[in-house]
Amino acid sequence: MKVGFIGLGTMGYPMAGHVAAAHDLVVWNRTASVADRHAEEHSSLAAHDLAGLADRDVVVTCLPTSADVDEIADRLGPLLARGSVWVDATSGDPEVARLTATRLTERGVAYVDAPVSGGSTGASAGTLTVMCGGSTDDIDRARPVVECWAGRIVRVGDIGAGHAVKAVNNALLAVALWSAGEGLAALAKAGVDVTAALEVINASSGRSNATVTLIPDRVVSRAFPNTFSLPLLVKDLGIAVGVATRAGVDARVLRLAAERFGTALERLGDVDHTAALRVLEEDAGVEIR
Ligand code: NDP
Repeated sequence: MKVGFIGLGTMGYPMAGHVAAAHDLVVWNRTASVADRHAEEHSSLAAHDLAGLADRDVVVTCLPTSADVDEIADRLGPLLARGSVWVDATSGDPEVARLTATRLTERGVAYVDAPVSGGSTGASAGTLTVMCGGSTDDIDRARPVVECWAGRIVRVGDIGAGHAVKAVNNALLAVALWSAGEGLAALAKAGVDVTAALEVINASSGRSNATVTLIPDRVVSRAFPNTFSLPLLVKDLGIAVGVATRAGVDARVLRLAAERFGTALERLGDVDHTAALRVLEEDAGVEIR
């Protein structure tokens, strides 16, 4: 298949690498040197102009926000052939994505939202969980490409449903991370050994990905490697709150998580999402270690 990939960041770069191994791939990145590096490393072809993707059967976007995707779709959509498919792997906003999809569909380009979960490790391994929104037919047409980076592909509903599920998933991650941080800060201040507490919690009912992986690997170690940035998590929380509000659900815990991580973003800027716990630590006067 002729595939185009737009957005070679932490996630997109390795995802596109898997596509290059199976399909005829043209890559485009806002910073062109990254596309050139990808072409050299993965034998893809680097386009320095979006028009270089006009003949693609499938176009993939993996950008920070739906607004970024919408802007690119406005430029590239009119150049694509009828019958092509746009696969949006961005963690996006269902409302904005539906507007983008409508404009693409009017031009005969199908749209599938296909955000991913599994982080940079899953992207490198090609084992991401993909949640798809769109028609079964369109998802099936995109499947040979999506399979390149997926360990699991689940259709969760119509256009926008993938983005909604992704936002809620990440809101759950945020709640688990922050609440585990509060609990462990309290234990540390009370004189309990954090590593021993985590050993117990991770063999008990309070465990989560935050306690099993994120807090030991990133917070207790003080490494805080920036592989999933705090601005992106704050964006996802805003989308999740929007999904809940539109559905008429009183999601006050999600709203509080959005507020806490939003404050951390104001104080810390562009750091790894786990570094948000530093704000909690500063306020409590203790380190989770
Ligand atoms: P990065 O910040 O690492 O990469 C963003 C990419 O988008 C870069 O290629 C960047 O280009 C490009 N870009 C940014 N703004 C624009 C724009 N206005 N127009 C065109 N290109 C633009 O992000 P990630 O790879 O971490 O995340 C991508 C998406 O995947 C996000 O929606 C995120 O929420 C989601 N995600 C991230 C995960 C993670 O662990 N990091 C896990 C699962 C989902 P340039 O090189 O020029 O900066």
